[in-house]
Amino acid sequence: MKKVLILEDEVSIRSFVVINLKRAGYEVVEAGAGMEALEKLKENPDVGVAILDIMLPDIDGFEVCRNIRATDKRIGIIMLTARSQEMDKITGLMTGADDYMTKPFSPAELTARIDALYRRISSDGGGDSIELSQGPFVLNTRNRTLDKEGRRIKLTQVEYAIMRLFMQNPGRALSREDILTSVWGRDYDGELKIVDVNIRRLRIKIEDDTANPSYITTVWGFGYKWGA
Ligand code: CA
Repeated sequence: MKKVLILEDEVSIRSFVVINLKRAGYEVVEAGAGMEALEKLKENPDVGVAILDIMLPDIDGFEVCRNIRATDKRIGIIMLTARSQEMDKITGLMTGADDYMTKPFSPAELTARIDALYRRISSDGGGDSIELSQGPFVLNTRNRTLDKEGRRIKLTQVEYAIMRLFMQNPGRALSREDILTSVWGRDYDGELKIVDVNIRRLRIKIEDDTANPSYITTVWGFGYKWGA
């Protein structure tokens, strides 16, 4: 069964999420504090998606996120933010979250986001090993790895999916909508900005000079182009 962790200290919100996720067919692991969530994840290595609240009684959700990402690039992470925490959204994504949801949210929306993350995690796991080699980069679609000049670059699932899309479409301008649809799924109803935030993070990891990106170039008013 697909397993999800929900970290939320407000019992009413947490119970509401738990009930709805169970109804949607997920097994749910609950935590009410940051350290507890990290413990529970150790006990449940098969958790595929973690939902993290930001304001918590001990360590905050960003720190929990960083802690998870230090050892696990595969797990999907969704941050829960309060309304008008615009900067929090960005910071959350910069520390390795895949998505965010603003409170209050509908259970159907949360389930759709989790389903989308799960699809991405389980997609293209098998099949032929395909290596895409461009410039200094080698992308292996079976191992889901990216190397630059022989050095492994650690990517989140979202970053990997974006890199694969780019390397399958070299030299082609991709609109932000194209990227959103391809990476997050057709039924994703989040904001286009999530594309820019992930591209910015990806540039930090892969560009020689982040201020003057030469691999992922911006197509003004449209989107991005891969030109390794
Ligand atoms: Ca809270």
